[in-house]
Amino acid sequence: MESILLLAHTEPDGSLAKPALEALAAALALGGELTVGLVGMETQAAANQIAGTGAARILAVTGEAFTQSRYATDAAAAEALCRAARAKLVLAPGTSRWSRALPGVAYRLHGRVDTHATSLTLRNEVPAVTRWFYRQRMEAVLTRQQRPWIVLLDAGCVPAWNGPAGTATVEAVAVDLPPTRTTVTGIQAPKADEQTIRPDAKLLFVAGAGWTKKQADGAVHGAEAEALILGFLRTAKASLGGSKSLVDLSGEGEAVLQFMTHLNQIGQTGSTPRHPKGLSTCCHGEEPHAVGWRFINERRAINLDPNCGWARGKADVLYVADAFAVMREVNRTLGQENS
Ligand SMILES: Cc1cc2nc3c(=O)[nH]c(=O)nc-3n(C[C@H](O)[C@H](O)[C@H](O)COP(=O)(O)OP(=O)(O)OC[C@H]3O[C@@H](n4cnc5c(N)ncnc54)[C@H](O)[C@@H]3O)c2cc1C
Repeated sequence: MESILLLAHTEPDGSLAKPALEALAAALALGGELTVGLVGMETQAAANQIAGTGAARILAVTGEAFTQSRYATDAAAAEALCRAARAKLVLAPGTSRWSRALPGVAYRLHGRVDTHATSLTLRNEVPAVTRWFYRQRMEAVLTRQQRPWIVLLDAGCVPAWNGPAGTATVEAVAVDLPPTRTTVTGIQAPKADEQTIRPDAKLLFVAGAGWTKKQADGAVHGAEAEALILGFLRTAKASLGGSKSLVDLSGEGEAVLQFMTHLNQIGQTGSTPRHPKGLSTCCHGEEPHAVGWRFINERRAINLDPNCGWARGKADVLYVADAFAVMREVNRTLGQENS
């Protein structure tokens, strides 16, 4: 088996996050000689976290300049680690940080890169990746002759490595800092409890445009819709998805749910998240939307229309009901259970 380099960047607290531990598990399963390459402000804690992996070497690019995600510094760090490790295969978690930097690194090393891989395993004795094409309609298995071959593994596809911590020996790798034009002056982020996209949630709650439409009494009930949805998200710790129609409404100057952005959009031109369960509300379930439910295992929908798309084999259960009434009752029941 060829030598493998696992590239991981540390989190602000110095640890390795779940996507990095998933990629680590995939690298270990391949069975070749493993080198780990770490990048961050502080790397010893992360090295200790994975001391039990039995990696042949742990290399690190450490320092203030590598705290923030920035193409120039991340690419320089990854390139230096790849050159120091001389590995044929380079596996990394498909984080936004690595997804931005590593294709350029593959070019510099005259190698190749594959993004959005869902696995990297041996097939007929050669490493092969699986990945989806055409908005998750076709799955391909592919392999490459060129080396180094950099593979970015999507999160949530492999159980994360979970082994003992220890005290690791780290080899420092020096990097000539490239000139940088970007200075990070601070971070503006919503408070943690306002975060509505939760990739690890057991349930995906989808809101459709129906929440902002006139209801049976002839009026729009935007404020109540917001309260019901946010109330449910808080108690159920669900992740929030939206239909395209709903996320587009803000651009049309219509009544909107303030917390809904294009990042929440599920579907053909949105995201395809992985959750065990999904509940769609006030969403028609048209194919361009439902195609984003590819990896939702159990699907339920609430819609007033018994002929909506969900009724046509796209949901396991369709409740033909008023979503306002249903979610009011669900929130009341959850509130009682939690009190
Ligand atoms: C190329 C292309 C790409 C696209 N990509 C995407 C994509 O990525 N994601 C996506 O979502 N769409 C996508 N679309 C758009 C998609 O086809 C639909 O137009 C969109 O999903 C409709 O959104 P909706 O179901 O929320 O709204 P609507 O079609 O307006 O449906 C609202 C639903 O709410 C129901 N409703 C209203 N009030 C209540 C109530 N009180 N209780 C219960 N139900 C109620 C109504 O019965 C209705 O079914 C794409 C379209 C194209 C052409």
